[in-house]
Parts: sequence; C-alpha cells; structure tokens
Amino acid sequence: MRKKVVLLGATGSIGSSTLRVLRAHTDRLQLIGVAAQSHDRELAAICREFAVPHAVLHSEDAYRRARQGSYFPGTTQLSCGPEALAALATLPEADIVLIAVVGTAGLNPALAAIEAGKDIALANKELLVLGGAHVIAAARRKGVRLLPTDSEHNAIFQCLQGHPRQQLDKLILTASGGQFRDSPAAALAEVSPEMATQHPNWSMGPKITVDSATMANKGLELIEAHWLFDLEPDRLEVVIHPQSVVHSLVQFIDGSILAQLSPPSMTFAIQHCLLYPERAPGVEPTTDFKKPFSLDFRAPDYARYPCLRLAYDALRAGGAAGAIFNAANEVAVERFLAKEIAYLEIPQLIEHCLGSMPNSQQPSLHQLLQTDAETRELAQSLKF
Ligand code: NAD
Ligand code: MG
Repeated sequence: MRKKVVLLGATGSIGSSTLRVLRAHTDRLQLIGVAAQSHDRELAAICREFAVPHAVLHSEDAYRRARQGSYFPGTTQLSCGPEALAALATLPEADIVLIAVVGTAGLNPALAAIEAGKDIALANKELLVLGGAHVIAAARRKGVRLLPTDSEHNAIFQCLQGHPRQQLDKLILTASGGQFRDSPAAALAEVSPEMATQHPNWSMGPKITVDSATMANKGLELIEAHWLFDLEPDRLEVVIHPQSVVHSLVQFIDGSILAQLSPPSMTFAIQHCLLYPERAPGVEPTTDFKKPFSLDFRAPDYARYPCLRLAYDALRAGGAAGAIFNAANEVAVERFLAKEIAYLEIPQLIEHCLGSMPNSQQPSLHQLLQTDAETRELAQSLKF
C-alpha cells in the first residue's frame, strides 16, 4: 500500500524538494492533495504530473484565474480559502500531511490534521513557535506522529532513536551562520534585501534566507526544539558550522555526542519523514568521504547575532513570548524586504516588541492568536 501524502506549500522551496522525493518513490508514496498561495500555473503543473485529485489555492485572484483558464486537469478538484485548506489537511484517505507553508498560515491546517488523526511531517517552524504547547498537546492526545522535517530537528530525531530520555544531556543545533558570518561588523549596516536573500549553502524561500542571515531562524529553531523535545533553554545549544553537513548533535549524560550528516539539501530530512520508519535509497548523492573536506565549529557571537540572544530571552520568558518573537520577526523581515527598515533594525524591532507587549503564562490558543495579531500591528507601526 502506498502512503497517501498531502503537501501544503507545494510550490515553495520545501515543496519542490518534496516533489523530488515523491518522483523517486512512486512505488511507496502517492500525492493526493496540494496547496499553494498563488502560483496557480505551477500548482496546475504539479497536479498534472502527479495526477493529484485535490488542490487548494489560498489567493482568491489566483483561484478565479485558474477557474477561467483551463490549465488544471479535469480530474483535479480545485478549491479556495481556509476551510478548503483544512478540508485538504483532513482528507479521509490521507496518511500523512507535510506542512511546508510559510509563517503561521500552517497552524490551523496542522491542528485540523492532528484532530483528524493524521501523521504530520512538520517543516513549518513558525506554527510551533506560536502555538507549540497546543500543537504538542493535541498530537499527544490523538497519538499522531509529529515528524520533524526541519533539518536540525530531523537530525536530532534520528540521533535520539533508541535512547531513553533520561540518558539525554543536551541538544546542539548547528547553524551555518548565514551569508554575513565573516563580514566586518560595520558592513552589516549596508546589507540590502538582495544580499540577504542569497544563502551560501542552502537554496530556500526568501523569508527563511533572511532569517538565516540574522540567525532569527536558529532562534525559531531553538523554540521549535524546546516544544518538539521538551527541553529547557539551558539544555539547548547553538554552534556555528559553516559547511552545513552536520545537521545537529545530541549529547548524552556520559559525554558521548551523536551527529547526523548529509549534504545541505532538504530531500534527506523530507524523505526520512515521508518514509518513516522505513528507509530507501536517497534521491541525491550523500556526503562522500573519498573527497577531502573539513568540518568547522565555533560558538556564535551574540553581538553579531542579537536575534539569537532575543530568542533565548523569549524562550526563558515563556508564555506568549515565542509568539511575540515570531510575529515581530515576520513583520520585521517583510518590512526589511520592502526596504522600509534597515537590516540592523530587524533585531531592534523584535526587542522593542518583546519589551513592550504584555506576556501571559499558559496562554490559550485564542490569546496567542490575539498576541500574534497585536504584535504584528505594533511591529508595523514602529518608526525608526
Ligand atoms: P517558500 O516561501 O519557498 O514556500 C512557501 C509555500 O507555501 C509556497 O508553496 C506558497 O505558495 C505556500 N503558501 C504560503 N501561504 C499559504 C497559504 N496561506 N495557503 C496555502 N499555501 C500557502 O517557503 P519555504 O522555504 O519552502 O519554507 C516553508 C516552511 O518550511 C517555512 O516554515 C520554513 O521555515 C520551513 N523550512 C524551510 C526550509 C527550506 O530549506 N526552505 C528548511 C527548514 C524549514
Ligand atoms: Mg533548519
């Protein structure tokens, strides 16, 4: 029996890596649902190639355009809107839902899929940073698998297999350090959106590429790791590893450290999640030890990466602070990409929001969504 896969965010960077995995394993995996924001023609091409029966476009304009044009195959049922997205995530025949939409748009479909008892492959980290307590509690209650697809968390998940929790000491997340890790500090003031959306190792969507440069991405991943693996902030470490070959490490109480290695491509983590607990040949060559290469590690400099320090602050503060960090960062990146604020103003904006938004311990999902909306409003209004 082939595993039936729903892919939310099919036209993005994770989406296209997922399609490579699906193409290589048509005997094991079947794509039965796809969603995208507005790339109607790309989504139609995916539906045609994989004979996908269900598709959702989030943008009404794109949906209308697609309805008028005739480029979606007649066998694909196309719909639009948040209810359609939730319906796609809960298709009765679906076995696993890969959440690769960007930002907090993934939260509701993820919760719907969990309630419907679907296993989740989770690439989207923002939804855990916003609503981690609720998502993890729902997954436990429903007994569904939450398979970490973000490469660091996937590495940790793989290293933890077969090890009782009481043997675990800490998790060490690797970070490339982004494209400006060796730039002189003075040059950071001049970083433009064009410069910040180019990554030396990974080919990713624009938001996460900027997040890599500021290391807000690693900050989000620390909070993601906290929820996925239930560890306190002082047992979560970050190390800069420029080659992005070691995807993260797990340290046990006896001092032994395990790592997962593969080239910097998301296909390894995506395939691991979609086929879990089985394995099959990968879609691209892995790390080759016949060629010489070196692996470097160094501790991050918090003065260069204030977003990382702010993420630790948010994690220690608990409550809604993760939601504030995430929303402030999302708006800061949008405003930076729109050339409204400078690169170095991204952490300033986040710090201001963390300092001035009221926090509450054990917030309900409703309160978190409210905090998210209010933080966005504040972040939009801040002048520099
Ligand atoms: P991306 O911008 O390249 O793609 C996002 C996808 O989501 C697109 O297909 C877009 O059409 C779709 N989308 C956006 N809003 C939507 C909505 N409301 N309804 C339906 N579809 C919607 O982003 P990406 O780089 O692929 O990242 C996706 C997620 O995975 C992010 O949360 C990111 O942090 C995480 N992630 C990405 C990478 C990577 O290598 N790109 C690695 C680890 C984690
Ligand atoms: Mg990652």
